Amino acid sequence: MKAASFQQPGASAILLAGKTVENRTTATGTENFGTLAVHARIPHSPRAAALEAKRILNTYAIDLGTMPTGAILGVVDLIDIHHSDTCATGDGYCSPWASPRSWHWVLANPRVLGEPVPTAGAAGVWTLAPSVLAAVTARLEASS
Ligand SMILES: [Zn+2]
Repeated sequence: MKAASFQQPGASAILLAGKTVENRTTATGTENFGTLAVHARIPHSPRAAALEAKRILNTYAIDLGTMPTGAILGVVDLIDIHHSDTCATGDGYCSPWASPRSWHWVLANPRVLGEPVPTAGAAGVWTLAPSVLAAVTARLEASS
């Protein structure tokens, strides 16, 4: 199973708040459609994370205290990747979550793990280690 690392609260918003678009600066990962493990990475830019957190918290009233980092929180289906130039309308983009001048990863069917699986993240799209994959699979089966 492939995985991608997301900032919090974005990772939790994908799984719990209907965040259907992830904005990326590159198209990396376009060959990886399918189920994607959602990894919440440990922030390297507290200020950027705080700005994004404020936006999401204001919109969806999510409690930051319930958001783990450094772990796989769930899985989601990556169903499309396109550039914002291709989905712009007069009113905005394909989703309220979509940003201009970005690649939009369109996400669907989020499944939350009953318990996060701790692991280190990586840039781009990466492959779960066998032991992590086993834990993610077991927790998905336990919650279905
Ligand atoms: Zn779009």
